[in-house]
Amino acid sequence: AKGEGGGVHFEYEPSLHAIAEESRQLEFSLRNALENDELTLHYQPVVDANSEAVVSFEALVRWNSKEHGFVSPGKFIPIAEDTRLIVPIGTWIMNEACREAATHWPEHVKVNVNVSPEQLLEPDFAGTVVRALSHSGLAAHRLEIEVTESIFLRDAGIVRKALEQCIALGCSVALDDFGTGYSSLGYLRKLDFTTIKVDRTFVQGAGQNSPESLAIIRAVVAMADSLDMTTTAEGVENEEEAELIRRLGCTKIQGYHFGRPMPASDARKIFARDQRQ
Ligand code: C2E
Ligand code: CA
Ligand code: CA
Ligand code: CA
Repeated sequence: AKGEGGGVHFEYEPSLHAIAEESRQLEFSLRNALENDELTLHYQPVVDANSEAVVSFEALVRWNSKEHGFVSPGKFIPIAEDTRLIVPIGTWIMNEACREAATHWPEHVKVNVNVSPEQLLEPDFAGTVVRALSHSGLAAHRLEIEVTESIFLRDAGIVRKALEQCIALGCSVALDDFGTGYSSLGYLRKLDFTTIKVDRTFVQGAGQNSPESLAIIRAVVAMADSLDMTTTAEGVENEEEAELIRRLGCTKIQGYHFGRPMPASDARKIFARDQRQ
């Protein structure tokens, strides 16, 4: 890290103190990111495993900070969650994603929006969704909310109620990053999930012929089938992985091979292209 005012240079690995200091500075800037228009959404296609048609886009937030330049979500989302800044930011993301989908995409294309546990613990999360849908005119069935298993470590009653209200509206819910972290199959029975997203680590393992990864994907697909859920394989980066995932029977595929997260204007062009075919 570089000393700012004193001209002092520290040539050691970032210490806990330096990390805490960086995160404090990011938090400070993040407080103004919304009003300074520094946040945008990128969209990554999710395709049908067999037809390869785009069935949805996942909204992924991007922060281009005046002070810090581009900051990855892996870095600032945890800070936003710790400080609860994720609540106003998440509401903005929900509104923006619904508006983009309703205004510019064909009706058969859904939008996937990531939601953090802190948002679900807010008393009126379902109200936020209702308002995003009504302001944008997006049909509820076109919105899929993505949550990770970490939501079940929180006040499960509140979280479940919020998501059940969204399901009652007609939205669907996907279980993200499945197989990482706390994985307990019991979670799958706690909520009426529509989709299980198989984490990228298994897709990559399978691509490298890891027998464990192959077995896990097979088991998840079989379980999803019997529970009447669909599966999305994340992080598919090449044709070999895509072919493997198809053979394993995943319903949908997402990954750099089919499209990186892209600005809204580029996502719109994909439909123009699809129509010409
Ligand atoms: P996630 O929800 O699991 O999103 C998928 C991440 O994998 C994205 O990283 C995406 O760019 C990346 N990815 C997609 N395909 C590939 C691939 O083929 N190969 C590789 N190596 N990576 C791929 P990103 O955009 O940096 O987001 C990281 C995480 O930050 C997300 O993981 C999610 O947990 C969080 N996040 C991003 N946007 C939002 C948001 O709007 N709200 C909330 N609450 N969290 C968000
Ligand atoms: Ca996600
Ligand atoms: Ca994921
Ligand atoms: Ca993740």
